[in-house]
Amino acid sequence: KMKQKPKKYFWHPMTDTRASEQETIIIERGEGNYIFNDSGEKLLDAVGGLWCMNVGHNRKTVNDAISKQMNKLSYYQLFTNIAHPKAYELAEKIITLAENEDMAKVFFTSGGSDSVDTALKITRQYWEAVEKPKKKMFISLERAYHGMHYGGTSVGGNDLYRKFIGPTLEGCIQVSSPHKKNKWNCEDPEKLTQLCIEEIVEKIDYYGADNIAAFIMEPIQGAGGIIVPPESYWPAVREVCDQYDILLISDEVVTGFGRSGSMFGCRGWGVKPDVMVLAKGLSSGYIPMGATVFNQRIVNGIESAENGANIIIHGQTYSGHPLGCVAALEVLKIVENENLPQNAKEVGAYLLDLLKPIQSEYSEYITDVRGKGLMLAIDFEDAGNFSPEEITNNVQHVADYAISQGVLVRDELKTIIISPSLTFTKEDAKKVYTSLANGLESLRRK
Ligand code: PMP
Repeated sequence: KMKQKPKKYFWHPMTDTRASEQETIIIERGEGNYIFNDSGEKLLDAVGGLWCMNVGHNRKTVNDAISKQMNKLSYYQLFTNIAHPKAYELAEKIITLAENEDMAKVFFTSGGSDSVDTALKITRQYWEAVEKPKKKMFISLERAYHGMHYGGTSVGGNDLYRKFIGPTLEGCIQVSSPHKKNKWNCEDPEKLTQLCIEEIVEKIDYYGADNIAAFIMEPIQGAGGIIVPPESYWPAVREVCDQYDILLISDEVVTGFGRSGSMFGCRGWGVKPDVMVLAKGLSSGYIPMGATVFNQRIVNGIESAENGANIIIHGQTYSGHPLGCVAALEVLKIVENENLPQNAKEVGAYLLDLLKPIQSEYSEYITDVRGKGLMLAIDFEDAGNFSPEEITNNVQHVADYAISQGVLVRDELKTIIISPSLTFTKEDAKKVYTSLANGLESLRRK
């Protein structure tokens, strides 16, 4: 009863265009960790919008600040010598929060894909600025997701996204995702790191470090299925990047601002990237907002260029929108005051502990349960007794059952993903667990 069949004049992202008759949940209102459909029925939002509502729905301080700004100055731009005060305030706040990562300067955008493409363009520009113009290639991981613009689509790790829209950018190479079920099927984390690093070094040697601009990472692969690399993996990648003079871009669109249990995902591995890509949790979805942040090395290189590469020939109308800046400033106050990274760590660990046993209890369906902080996945992939189509149906059955019990999770073909607001409580986590366990039980009895 949660779903209905509205007449649709728009295409849903990532959806079959012929699925216009598909049943849809229409969300009309949000409050804290809950959302409500147009009949007033309540769902616990374990998807966090699209893993972006870090502070939960309808927070009064955020709403009030946006409305106050709206009545004062709803829009102004940042091109050339013009700005608005909230851009300065927010840039300083981001640099302060990313002090540990030695970040020095912010470039504002209006979303994750924008921030990714800004990072790719500016890292290439950096190499031009320091007179190494051959360094153009990007290394990324299989299963990576870096947004939907052409740059991000080019470095993405899923060929499907390039299938009908190519040619994409040249010079994008991929290496294995550090997933224990990758081609080596390696359970030992140290060995897995070693195998992955050997492959990275082989590729760098093959293409030549002189041609490679940057390695782009998601600290934890999100859309690729919540892949948490071994502890030794990112430090080892950083070392290789240093050794071969390759810049490291950390795409923190999902992991930024606490989701993985530390303020930034890379911090969980003690790794300092050269560039950080931010969006989603930055403004917690209240107003579209993004930022790309650079360390001193890049700032110095670009600002001291003598070939014209000191000019930023890039920007968008809505880069650093005042409403987005104000929303972000209020959201970040909540993130700090409520210590949400720590809450994500504790509630995430609690939920993972609850969910882990279902892997053995329902081993005919579940092949893995994993995650870090409030980024968790239940994998139905490769369940031996089922065809790929049956696996997708199993995932759908469990996700639909959870909805019938008042819990919304994300079903991604062969995986159930849980990525709620960082304000989630242990009680909320328990509800998620119970709805999924009941869903599996109902699947077994089907
Ligand atoms: N990078 C990562 C890691 C993401 O998960 C996403 C969105 N899910 C993006 C970039 C793109 O962000 P947006 O959808 O805001 O353009």
